[in-house]
Amino acid sequence: MISISQKTINSKISCSGVGVHSGERASITLHPAPCNTGIIFRRIDLSGNNEIKANYKNVTNTNLGTTLTNEAGAKVATIEHFMAAVWGCGIDNLFIDIDGPELPIMDGSSEPFVFLIECSGINVQEEPRRILEIMKPVRVEDGDKFIEVSPSKDFSIDLHVDFAHEKIGNQTFDYHSTSSSFKNDVCRARTFGFKHEIDQLHKMGLAKGGSLNNAILVDENGIVNKEGLRYKDEFVRHKTLDFIGDIYLAGYFILGHFKASKAGHGINNKLLHKLFADKEAWRIV
Ligand SMILES: [Zn+2]
Repeated sequence: MISISQKTINSKISCSGVGVHSGERASITLHPAPCNTGIIFRRIDLSGNNEIKANYKNVTNTNLGTTLTNEAGAKVATIEHFMAAVWGCGIDNLFIDIDGPELPIMDGSSEPFVFLIECSGINVQEEPRRILEIMKPVRVEDGDKFIEVSPSKDFSIDLHVDFAHEKIGNQTFDYHSTSSSFKNDVCRARTFGFKHEIDQLHKMGLAKGGSLNNAILVDENGIVNKEGLRYKDEFVRHKTLDFIGDIYLAGYFILGHFKASKAGHGINNKLLHKLFADKEAWRIV
């Protein structure tokens, strides 16, 4: 995963689909970007300042997804699965043109976005990558949730979930970053929801685009989707995917070991704020 040069994609490439919460269709077009650009969304349906940088400081909502907003109020929602794919492909610099307020959910995983990036191809750029190295442990807690990051020579995550539902229950996943681990172990894990929560979500204006084509649905009898699960512990792997997408909003690839229990979009963002606030906890190499 950690390489010495920055990377972008080879040429522009597009896909489209429905947003899981808004239910609105959107198209995205990925464009190569110069060295030191980072990842930038551009709301091409809006005039004026429509550029939204993929950075933890721009996170404005973490309720069932991560939303970014720029200083002019331009928003882009449900970015986490896309950001995980960008991280998994080792992309540093990218423009993403989008014609609506929410990323397409595709199949509920990162795989379609990885496929899109691989179809474009990866372009190794001339400048070296700058990496964030963790120098001392940082911990955040929120009720019974916590995340801790500590120094390490590579990137790894030890993530635990505990859902009251017997089909999920306690699951733990140890992720170690290698050149193939994201694609093999994490990228295909889909988002999931509970049938008894759907009416409430719809009342809140959420999950309007959700279906069995883009999420695992769990009811009192188990998995509703006819095809079953893609991994027997697909739930904790999806939470790992979400975690990776949220943590890439650091704006850097990271050398550190993360330990997380019941992590979610809110606490993932809280960790980055606490980390960057402590200048002794990290350095750029
Ligand atoms: Zn997710």
